[in-house]
Amino acid sequence: MNYFRARTVDEVLGRLAERPPPRVICGATDLFADPALLPAKYEWVDISRVDALRAIERRDGMARIGSATTWEAIAATEWLPTALREAAASVGSRQIRVQGSIGGNLCHASPVADGVPPLLALDAHVELASTRGVRRLPLTEFLLGRRRTSLHADELLVAVWFALPRAQDRTAFIKCTNRDGAAIAVVSAAVRLRMSGEDTMDAVAISVGGVSETALRMRELEAAMQGQRRAGLARAIEEASLVELTPIDDCRAPAAHRIHLARLAIGRAFSHCIKETDRGVSTA
Ligand SMILES: Cc1cc2nc3c(=O)[nH]c(=O)nc-3n(C[C@H](O)[C@H](O)[C@H](O)COP(=O)(O)OP(=O)(O)OC[C@H]3O[C@@H](n4cnc5c(N)ncnc54)[C@H](O)[C@@H]3O)c2cc1C
Repeated sequence: MNYFRARTVDEVLGRLAERPPPRVICGATDLFADPALLPAKYEWVDISRVDALRAIERRDGMARIGSATTWEAIAATEWLPTALREAAASVGSRQIRVQGSIGGNLCHASPVADGVPPLLALDAHVELASTRGVRRLPLTEFLLGRRRTSLHADELLVAVWFALPRAQDRTAFIKCTNRDGAAIAVVSAAVRLRMSGEDTMDAVAISVGGVSETALRMRELEAAMQGQRRAGLARAIEEASLVELTPIDDCRAPAAHRIHLARLAIGRAFSHCIKETDRGVSTA
């Protein structure tokens, strides 16, 4: 086993250009929980101490979060959108949140990764770098399926960025688990909502995790909710076909239960956003 702790992005990219490339390691909370990834099998490059990958910045209406930023740091950053902070605060126990990173969550590409639904609802993009250059792509194009991403072997996920929601926008994240306390989601949902006046839904973004092989934006449901009045909300969700979802059926939850939870989570996320709109305060 060969382990290298990098201090700069260039050091990481230099190592990743070697053949065969080493494996990136950050908080190791996903990597070392996977028995297929025996440490002796790999060369490792540790990015957890690269300061440039740990910054949370806002500039010109955009938020940029370095890939090695921990969930603890994200949950504590009050100007970040509520849905993302709530997802961050729900990841595992505190021991996991101080180690686990947003980049590791996205690159591991689990269908139940808590970071994904809020970032999808925020139209997030990822920035990938190698010695060949930098490319940026929407998160929807980065996530290809269960444990599959469009990251090349020599690439590093450098940062995640998204436009900060407007002052009148509200966001929420709901996580459904099989038990109380720290637990992996069975299904989760995130909503970004802007009301027009007091009663009508104007801009709507909805994403669901844990039902299909990867978390998804619910474009058809979003279109159906556009212009919907509050009074029609519950019925619209109840009657939505949710055809975009192709539910997983396994020991943690049968397919029909996942669809039921998805409706529940979407409905609750909308209720949170509407309540926050009524309260008039915003951290989005
Ligand atoms: C007990 C326990 C509870 C957990 N609970 C939750 C939970 O509630 N919700 C949840 O979503 N997750 C949970 N997880 C999973 C895990 O903690 C998170 O997914 C975490 O964010 C992973 O980050 P990491 O830095 O530890 O990733 P690592 O384990 O270091 O890496 C994960 C993968 O991403 C790659 N990688 C990491 N960073 C980069 C990068 N910048 N560029 C390219 N590749 C990279 C690695 O090579 C590896 O393949 C839990 C894990 C454990 C062990």
